[in-house]
Formats: sequence, structure tokens, C-alpha cells
Amino acid sequence: MSKVKLPNRVRLDACTLCQLQCPSCYMRLNDYCGRGKGYLKIKDFKGFVDAHDYIKEIELSNDGEIFLNPELIEIIKYAYERDVILTANTGVNFNTVSDEIMEGMVKYGFRSLSVAADGVRQEIYSFYRRGGNINAVFSNIKRLVEYKKKHNSQYPRIRWQFVLMNHNQNDVQKAKEVAQELNIQLSFKLGWDDDFEAKDPILVKELTGLEYLSRRDYERGTGHKYLSEMCNTIWTKPTINFDGTLVGCECEPKKDYKVNVFEIGLEEAMNCKEYVYSQKMLLGEEPVDYDNPCAACPQGHYKWRAEHGDFVKIEELSPTCFTIDEKIFKMIEKDARVAIFGAHDMALDLKYEFDKQRHDIEVVCFLDRFRPGKLDGLPVYSPFSIDRYNSVDVIVLSSGTHQSAMRDTLVSLGIGNDRIIDATILQS
Ligand code: SF4
Ligand code: SF4
Repeated sequence: MSKVKLPNRVRLDACTLCQLQCPSCYMRLNDYCGRGKGYLKIKDFKGFVDAHDYIKEIELSNDGEIFLNPELIEIIKYAYERDVILTANTGVNFNTVSDEIMEGMVKYGFRSLSVAADGVRQEIYSFYRRGGNINAVFSNIKRLVEYKKKHNSQYPRIRWQFVLMNHNQNDVQKAKEVAQELNIQLSFKLGWDDDFEAKDPILVKELTGLEYLSRRDYERGTGHKYLSEMCNTIWTKPTINFDGTLVGCECEPKKDYKVNVFEIGLEEAMNCKEYVYSQKMLLGEEPVDYDNPCAACPQGHYKWRAEHGDFVKIEELSPTCFTIDEKIFKMIEKDARVAIFGAHDMALDLKYEFDKQRHDIEVVCFLDRFRPGKLDGLPVYSPFSIDRYNSVDVIVLSSGTHQSAMRDTLVSLGIGNDRIIDATILQS
């Protein structure tokens, strides 16, 4: 295998069943990529966790609805007993969730979930999320928030993911208001459709905080393919189907690697010939093999990389379970005004630690290009809004995996290295 350590996170699909019928649902349109529909069994989950004690975090969601897995509560309990963090950050539709699961997620420290809902009014929401009921989604969010209050827990963190599409732009303002009422983070994502036409681009950009309103514009403007970093996960957070088949990455290539992690273990599976060849193609070390899963990448990432010479860089890959470096709370000067770069879980953890450990310091905002809006009552700005930096003394980088890219962005904007602090260290 290439010179990267084994990952300490994986994506293990908890369920590919779903009660909705979204018209562009990739798995349904592609007949589940020939991998069948089903759900992760508790016996397989236990076997996997027991055999891989270096895996510290498992993402359960991908294509399907994890809450339709009838063994989910046992999975959540077992992960808690084995000190493994669970997340559902790729997305859940959150239409149907039992009280047992709701309370179990809170009691057993389920870390975070991202609720995919692209509208506020029922007719707008169900235009794409066919068969879904937005009032059920909001009511489930409220119930979960109630359980968090009852158990005085900050987990699971709830994020609302709103994919911007032609039919839903009139609900953007209302979504911001509802997110504020529900006290949850709202993040906007670009849709799959490059024909998105904003009726009022200036207003939509202002409301969403997005710099680009389509993936095509993003690529023209930045020179990078939207979400191309998902290729890194083939090293740092491999995707495994509910039955143990090694799939590779979350974009679910139609071909998989024909090896079963539950049977031969993750290390041996990641060392299979075709998987290693995918990695070499992505690094630009080997020419394309048209039979390789990456050659027919459903999102065109490999094609883009090959055409633009924009290959994965080995030095940007690292195991991804980072933890906060306690030293930073002593390093920052008295009464400093701090911006936290990032608006994900680690960024929120950092803010809570600053609130607890350094009453003199004020966290004034978050910086994040992909999740503009509000987080924990604070604004989330684009890191490119340079005027924001005048009012902060220090910028704390909340991501271990992207810290060099974050630092480069800031330095390119003229921020001195003396104002930038890394907040994370690799968890042993
Ligand atoms: S909610 Fe997700 S998995 Fe379900 S139909 Fe829609 S896109 Fe597919
Ligand atoms: S090229 Fe596509 S299939 Fe291959 S790792 Fe990247 S995103 Fe996944």
C-alpha cells in the first residue's frame, strides 16, 4: 500500500433502504450499483469494531436512511461501550425516527448528524424529497433537542443541510429563520444541476453566503473540482458497504473492489491489487486502467485530475482522527479576539473549550467557505472576506486534515503566520 498510515475512521453504510423517492437519488437510479439493498447487522458491526481497535470514528450515513436499520439502537450502544464515535454527517432525511433511537442517540453520545431537507414549505420540500413530510422532519428535530435538554447533552449536534436548487431558492430566507428558531446550524450546498439559475444571484449569494451558485461556476472560479477532496477518503476514511464489501469512497463508484472487509479485515482489503492501483492512479503514478473503479468515477473526479494534472498529493493525506491540543488554551494572549477557521464539530468543540477555559477571550466568528451562515449564535464568514480579519487578533485552525490548506489561504491573504495557531494534534 502507499506510504500512508492505516485510517482511524471509516464510513460503514448502516442502511441503503430509504422511504423517499428523490428523483436524482444516485443509488436508486443505478440499481444500488449491483450491491443490493440492505442494512448493517449488529453481529457484523461488533465483529468489525472488535477486529479493528484502531478505528475511532465511524460515519454511518451515505446512500439510504440509517433510521430504517432495525438494529441501529444496538449499534449505537455497542459503539458507546467500545468508545467509538458515531456520526451521520453525510445525511439523513429524518422523517421517521423512534423515541428509543432519539433518546439512545443522546444517552450514548452519538456525535452529530446532518439533516438533508431542501425546503421549508411542504410543496417545496416534497418537490424533490418525494414522499417526505417537512413537518415530521421539524418535529423530529424538536424532539431530539428536547432529549438533549433532558440529558443536558450537547450531542448529537444537528446540522441542517439545504441543497440549493432552482425550485427552492424562495425558501432560503425562511430556512434561515426556522434554523434560528430551532437553534441548529444551517448549511447550504451546491446542487448537482449545473443549470441552476438564481433569480437574483446577489441576493442568493448574500442569503446563503456562497461564493458560487453552481458547481460549474465553482470550478471556473477556483480551478478545482467541487468536492474533489472526497478522493482522499480512499486513504483516510474508506467506504464499506453494509455487507462488508469495500467500496472505496463515498461517491459510490459503480464497480467495487470485490473484497469483503468483514471477512479479510480492512488492512488486507485495502492492500488488494485494484485498490492500490486506484491510489496510484489518483496520485498520478500509474496510467489509467479503464477497468478500475475510479476510471468511471460517477462525479468525474479522476477524469478531471487526469485532464488537469491535479492529482492527489501524498503529503496532504494523513489519518484523520485529531483531537484538540490543550496547549493552545495557554498560548493565546489575554483578552484576545479569536476567529475559528472551520465550522464543523471540532470548531464547535474549540469554542466550548474557550468558553470554559478562557473567560477573557472572545470568540467572534467562524470562517468557513462551505458552511456560511450561523453557528452557535456566531456568524460564519467566508475566509476570503478579508475585512473580517481587522477585528480579530488570532485565527485558530480547527482542522487537522486541512490545516496546511487553511494556513496557505490565510497567508495568501496577507495574514502573518504569527496570528495563526494550529489547534489539533493527532490522536494516538
Ligand atoms: S433521501 Fe437520500 S437515499 Fe433517500 S431517496 Fe432521497 S437521495 Fe435517495
Ligand atoms: S476518483 Fe471518484 S471513485 Fe475514485 S476515489 Fe475519487 S471520488 Fe472516489
